[in-house]
Amino acid sequence: SDSKAVVLVPGKIHPRVLERFEGKVEVIKAPAGPEPTLSAVDAQRVTAVAVAGGFNAKWMDGLPNLKVIANFGVGYDGVDVKHAASRGIIVTNTPDVLNDEVADTTIALLISTVRRLYQAEKHLRDGKWVAEGPFALSPFSLRGRKVGLFGMGRIGQEIAKRLEPFKLEIGYHTRSKRDELSYTYYGSLKEMAEAVDILICIVPGTPATHKAINADILAALGSNGVFINVGRGSSVDEDALLTALQDGTLGAAGLDVFYEEPKVPEGFLSLPNVTLLPHVASASVPTRNAMADLVAENVLGWVTSGKVVTPVPETPVKG
Ligand code: NDP
Repeated sequence: SDSKAVVLVPGKIHPRVLERFEGKVEVIKAPAGPEPTLSAVDAQRVTAVAVAGGFNAKWMDGLPNLKVIANFGVGYDGVDVKHAASRGIIVTNTPDVLNDEVADTTIALLISTVRRLYQAEKHLRDGKWVAEGPFALSPFSLRGRKVGLFGMGRIGQEIAKRLEPFKLEIGYHTRSKRDELSYTYYGSLKEMAEAVDILICIVPGTPATHKAINADILAALGSNGVFINVGRGSSVDEDALLTALQDGTLGAAGLDVFYEEPKVPEGFLSLPNVTLLPHVASASVPTRNAMADLVAENVLGWVTSGKVVTPVPETPVKG
């Protein structure tokens, strides 16, 4: 064996991460799963992990010399950061490099949802334009609306900037007000849902945001209301959302993320007032390449100089 650092890659990761590792570290691959399947010898040698998906306490505890977990993605709700912190393990994510892509997709999803663009294109592709005539008018429009962002961090601010030229009123709810921003601040999610008619969810998946979008919030948005989720599916009570869309309590929804991906509740598939995307907000080749580079830079930075680039706030050791 040589003296190169040993990096574990459980499950699949973007191939560019592995390319960036070539010749610099030794990579051990393992199947993803609820617990590690490494030999004791290999488990001892691993000091870093590069992972897309999740990494739980059992995996961490199977790796006695683990120092760094580099997560592919800005959201790291799949990584048990509390447990990592208790063991002094650094966790990194991929912030900023995807802000613009995710914000672009959010705007597309919003307009697509409100103007029913997917159904309109399907009408054309199915030959119905010729056979049956023009597509039905969309019941909703963006005009004259008020938007509320649940989350105003790196991505939320890019979404808000893009909404400004659409001539919509913009507000947000977060735990702490951002005095540098001129958008309307709402002290509670409920208060915001009552005041706006478009709600965009771009908060991380945490215990505090778990099922925060519930029947009460959806009813407050109302029958003309539009809910867009590009944050995490865990922030939504999906049963309540489905019911609200079915009975018209809520007007429409555009969803990129789901509670139990890749499972999407069957009921959504037949509804005309919902637009569904398979978690693609950051999923372009250039943006995923940039995310892969940042994963590699975090691992290689730690290996070569003991410094990671983008540690998460819960991480005990700063980069
Ligand atoms: P940031 O950490 O920069 O921003 C998070 C925002 O959420 C902050 O404004 C924060 O404000 C707010 N927030 C956090 N917890 C709460 C809470 N309990 N109540 C109210 N507001 C809260 O994250 P990013 O903007 O970089 O990313 C946000 C999330 O988007 C990611 O964590 C990820 O889950 C998701 N995402 C989804 C993608 C997709 O493909 N669909 C792609 C990229 C990201 P404050 O702390 O003041 O409350």
